[in-house]
Amino acid sequence: MMKIQLAKSFKERNKADVLLLPFWQGKKGAEPAFSLKPLLSLVKLPVESGDFKGKEGETQFIYLPRFPEKRILLVGLGKESDLSMEKVRTSYAAATRVCRRKKCKTLNILHFSAELDQACVCRAIGEGIFLANYLFSFKEKEEDREARIEALTLVGSDKRCLDALMKAQKITTAVCFTRDLVNGNADDVNAQRFVQEAKQLAKEFSSIHVKALGQKELEKEKMGLMLAVNRGAMQEPALILMEYRGDPGSKDVTAIVGKGITYDTGGLNIKPTGSMETMKCDMAGAGAVLGTMRAAASLGLKKNIIGVIAAAENAIGPKSYKPGDVFRSHSGKTVEITNTDAEGRLVLADALSYLQKHHRISRIVDLATLTGGVVVALGEEVTGFFSNEEDLAKALTHAGEKTYERLWRLPLHREYLEPMKSPIADLRNSGGGRKASPIMGAIFLQEFIEKGMPWAHLDIAGTAFLSELHKPYHTVHGTGVGVRLLIEFLENL
Ligand SMILES: [Zn+2]
Repeated sequence: MMKIQLAKSFKERNKADVLLLPFWQGKKGAEPAFSLKPLLSLVKLPVESGDFKGKEGETQFIYLPRFPEKRILLVGLGKESDLSMEKVRTSYAAATRVCRRKKCKTLNILHFSAELDQACVCRAIGEGIFLANYLFSFKEKEEDREARIEALTLVGSDKRCLDALMKAQKITTAVCFTRDLVNGNADDVNAQRFVQEAKQLAKEFSSIHVKALGQKELEKEKMGLMLAVNRGAMQEPALILMEYRGDPGSKDVTAIVGKGITYDTGGLNIKPTGSMETMKCDMAGAGAVLGTMRAAASLGLKKNIIGVIAAAENAIGPKSYKPGDVFRSHSGKTVEITNTDAEGRLVLADALSYLQKHHRISRIVDLATLTGGVVVALGEEVTGFFSNEEDLAKALTHAGEKTYERLWRLPLHREYLEPMKSPIADLRNSGGGRKASPIMGAIFLQEFIEKGMPWAHLDIAGTAFLSELHKPYHTVHGTGVGVRLLIEFLENL
């Protein structure tokens, strides 16, 4: 864990490998976002040269003889009037990336004042740095791996900012925990691993209680869809329920449910080469649920949450479930399998109906890498989402803007249910074809939501695992999307 400190004045700062100085992008070039006189004269030359313009995320090292830090890094924040939390996040993430490449391990960060709330600025600085400091590497030699920042000192700031930084650290630690699960080998991050991680969480935080159902319990509960999906796998499936009571006096409980397909071959409707290589990420929804529970507990969030994980593997073998066969769900509804690769909605359907039968909850948000169609529609920048309730949709959208884990709502019109009807069963699991596949997935799930239950479904297939990096705070494939979003959403409930 990175060490965080506060230095009230510039003189009291610690030794460090690099000093970060903030700049605005002015009309005539870079303008310092600080007013310390001795520093202003030091940066005069590089700024006047015009080489550094102060653009968002722009960085420039300068080297000075006899200066306590070995390097000074000029950090561009963009135009002062356009400053947003996201710009602060990306600018400090970009600075962190260049420092890591230079093997800098300790940072002094000069505080700056802006029109944005100071706690928000510090939180965004922290998020940018902590998220960009993530490392996931199997590279053998240490010199082939980027260095990690070990300590930072916020110079010229106050306790409120330090608290904001600490909060950012708790949340991003959980995001990076989720990233580790998503990036880890599918053979390591299996259903049993999810059970272990949930139990570990309950051990660390007395506010969390865990219940895990394995093969036998799932058979007893007649969770026919989840069992069908997992039939080809070596490992048992698991339905995991984690209860967090942060507000024991209240009956309000938010359920967050994650798809945990630990590997998706597509089943007998096998995926082709080019589509399977990223499928260790098909448990990213479950990873986000586990990460959110960890963040909520470490923040001591005053809300009641129940986290649900449906963990299974969609493998191929003689026992694999077969297209054309019909299975009975936990809810009693029967489903004809028209495509074994539409398995996420099957495990979620059973998890959702079990959850509603056995627990009193106020609303449900599920997260799933559900469809390739959502990636076609929205790419890797925005999560597609669905909701049957306006207030819930608004609150989630707002949390998405604040955290920049943005959401875009898609429709749930009843007409879309037509292709999901089967002549021999209550439903089929795939409408077939490429038309509106994210909507078909969502509308299938809605068939397992009880009347009057506020519900939202987030299809994170595009945003959970990146083929290319769009932001400096994303360092490698898994993004940990959902954790920051859900914490923001839960806090504002
Ligand atoms: Zn699939």
